[in-house]
Amino acid sequence: MIDLRSDTVAHPTPAMREAMFRAPVGDDVFGEDPTVNALEERLAALFGHEAGLYCPSGTMTNQIAVRVHTRPGDEVIGEDGMHIYRYEGGGIMANSGCSVKFVPNDRGRYTAGAVEAAINNAADSYVARSRMVNIENTHNRGGGAIWDINEVLQIKQVCQKHGLALHLDGARIFNAMAVDGYTPAQWGAPFDSISVCLSKGLGAPVGSVLLGNSPFIREARRVRKRFGGGMRQAGYLAAAGLHALDHHVGRLRDDHDRAKRLGQALAELPYVASVAPVETNIVVFTLKNGVRESHLLELLRERQVRALPFGAGTVRFVTHLEVNDEQIENAITILQDLRP
Ligand SMILES: *Cc1c(COP(=O)(O)O)cnc(C)c1O
Repeated sequence: MIDLRSDTVAHPTPAMREAMFRAPVGDDVFGEDPTVNALEERLAALFGHEAGLYCPSGTMTNQIAVRVHTRPGDEVIGEDGMHIYRYEGGGIMANSGCSVKFVPNDRGRYTAGAVEAAINNAADSYVARSRMVNIENTHNRGGGAIWDINEVLQIKQVCQKHGLALHLDGARIFNAMAVDGYTPAQWGAPFDSISVCLSKGLGAPVGSVLLGNSPFIREARRVRKRFGGGMRQAGYLAAAGLHALDHHVGRLRDDHDRAKRLGQALAELPYVASVAPVETNIVVFTLKNGVRESHLLELLRERQVRALPFGAGTVRFVTHLEVNDEQIENAITILQDLRP
């Protein structure tokens, strides 16, 4: 089986399991798990933030950030493909009582001018109070697209001018940094809060960390408890995150090379209309008229290759640490032999 549905499908490696097995643990709700504390402190220091909060999922870290930054009736600015809106069960509305305003974008990336134009007049009582901006880097629906840090710095200035919080959904921020070469401290600087996933390309079985200043994380800890995300001897899981930071960051480039190879091969197939530019580990492609994505996925599944449907006529492949060069070449041969 060549499973290219998501970078979440990878299993913990033997060395990661060993690190988990050996982890010193305690009750993290009491703040006494040394491994969780080490992971939170390490990521906070890396990104230049004061504190961190370990959570079961990236959905929870994002939703806690929205909850802490906003009050009911406020508005969150982003774009229509953003994970916090599209793939988190309506959480912005259900958990925080906020509305959402979309700005025009290019594969999930937008300009500081677009943000400024979307901010409501704070003196006008007819309209919602604009309160936070969400940036997703890399952008999942955008096919792993990377943001230009200079545009983010411009957006930060707009946020400061209008008193808006700036949140980074950094589920795959390490994929972005593997390409653009900026450091975690550079990416950390413009944001009031950051969600970092350990269970995507980094290969941990569970877990995300929310970063921010100390008062923000103190309140986030309360909201985590309220959302039911306070875990006890969570150090067994956090140990996988620490292991991933030590051993799985450098290898992200291999995933990117494999995704590029897949993208090049797809572009030459007679039944493929277009492939979004491959910047990181995600490959999104569109089928020619008349070929249904469900049909292609069925043919692939019969040949032990798995992918995800990504909208009408569109399919997503994601490379990760359980897919090697040989499997990529095999998948390409299978794709070339299909006549969907
Ligand atoms: C996966 C993902 C998340 C978090 O997802 P969980 O499955 O809840 O950990 C958040 N944002 C983006 C862009 C993602 O791809």
